Amino acid sequence: MVQTEADAATAAAATAPAATAVNFSMELNDEQRQMQKWVHDFAKDVIRPAAHEWDEREETPWPIIEEAAKVGIYSWEFVQNSFADPTGLMMPIVNEELFWGDAGIGLSLLGSGLAVAGIVGSGTMEQVVEWVPQCYGTPEKIQMGAFGVSEPDAGSDVSSLKSRAVYNEAKDEWTLNGTKAWITNGGIADVHVLVVSVEPELGSRGHAAFVIPPGTKGLSQGQKYQKHGIRASHTAEVVLDDCTVPGRCLLGGKEKLDARLARAREGKSSKSQAAMATFEATRPVVGSQAVGVARAAYEYALDYAKERVQFGRPIIENQSIAFKLADMKTSIDASRLLVRRAAWMAKTGQPFIAGEGSMSKLFAGETAVKVTDEAAQILGGMGFVRETPVERWRRDAKIFTIYEGTSEIQRLVIARAISGIHIK
Ligand SMILES: Cc1cc2nc3c(=O)[nH]c(=O)nc-3n(C[C@H](O)[C@H](O)[C@H](O)COP(=O)(O)OP(=O)(O)OC[C@H]3O[C@@H](n4cnc5c(N)ncnc54)[C@H](O)[C@@H]3O)c2cc1C
Repeated sequence: MVQTEADAATAAAATAPAATAVNFSMELNDEQRQMQKWVHDFAKDVIRPAAHEWDEREETPWPIIEEAAKVGIYSWEFVQNSFADPTGLMMPIVNEELFWGDAGIGLSLLGSGLAVAGIVGSGTMEQVVEWVPQCYGTPEKIQMGAFGVSEPDAGSDVSSLKSRAVYNEAKDEWTLNGTKAWITNGGIADVHVLVVSVEPELGSRGHAAFVIPPGTKGLSQGQKYQKHGIRASHTAEVVLDDCTVPGRCLLGGKEKLDARLARAREGKSSKSQAAMATFEATRPVVGSQAVGVARAAYEYALDYAKERVQFGRPIIENQSIAFKLADMKTSIDASRLLVRRAAWMAKTGQPFIAGEGSMSKLFAGETAVKVTDEAAQILGGMGFVRETPVERWRRDAKIFTIYEGTSEIQRLVIARAISGIHIK
């Protein structure tokens, strides 16, 4: 019976006309399939059994992170290898499997990657070499990274950041003040990568990203949020109170920043388009996380519908239930295709002329919300209690229409891209 993508690929290979040479394939390659299976097994054997406990505890699941570090899933090398895949598909494959295991634990394992993306995106090679390994540490001494842009008054509108960094030329130091809101791993991370304003009059073009090294005075955790979902992932405010860092902590360096600010003051075009493109490129990964949660709920609901008997027959024999499942599966597969297309485009340098990165995150995120809701409906009362994971998946799914740009912001990006008009 065809059960997995690997089985499907084997079956397809067996039935394909042998002599057809086609330079196009939708199959995963051997390396991708092996990685998919390895991560899936970890998700099934280690993450799933722990998911309920850490959701209830609303705490970072350190023992699971340690386990992941031991086998190599929580490490810089793992992220690097996944990112190196020339097709761009490995990151979404890995993310889908980990989030299939559990979204809160999945984010605890992958949250450091946000800091890494910030360092790699803006930093020099020396900064990457110095700071990225410190976002993971070692299996013996686990470390974490956090990436903070959002503030209490700057969520979707990142141009209105209030936190400031001021340069002291005599000491070659920057002093940061302000409050970051909603930061994954905020305050518990060893390395914080924070985007703050260095020249507020320039809006988002006056922003710069800083690494705040472990143990820096003046950085503290504010409130820890009590969340609706992904509760095993730590989310908190980060407060900066005269937090002073050496000049080398400015990502990209002072010379590059000065040149960029000078261009912005003259009203010349800047790299802000490139920054948007980078942001677009990370969205398919978030889309793949949503696919993982949706798939978990769909699989559970399918099994349940085959087993649950009412009126003398399994409930799946009712078209109204079977059609729900058909729609759920169709939306999940469509989401995955959008995710993989966008990931491939980003990796191979195809321009996102229609906001394809946003499309993938938008569709997959909204699919996760709909599919987990339908799964709960199929389970009836059992979908409403903590005894089954569907209740948790339904809470977790909502995050995908909020973080890394809300659904409305994704629609804005797509609408602007397809119309060429600055839709508001
Ligand atoms: C669990 C969690 C983890 C997070 N992790 C991080 C992190 O690690 N780092 C980080 O920097 N941030 C993080 N965030 C912040 C997240 O990115 C923001 O919550 C998100 O960008 C939305 O901002 P906001 O909450 O201020 O909502 P707002 O921007 O206030 O939006 C409120 C509503 O208005 C809508 N809206 C706003 N502007 C427009 C517009 N122009 N057109 C149409 N509708 C609009 C929005 O879509 C939304 O529905 C996290 C958030 C959560 C909940």
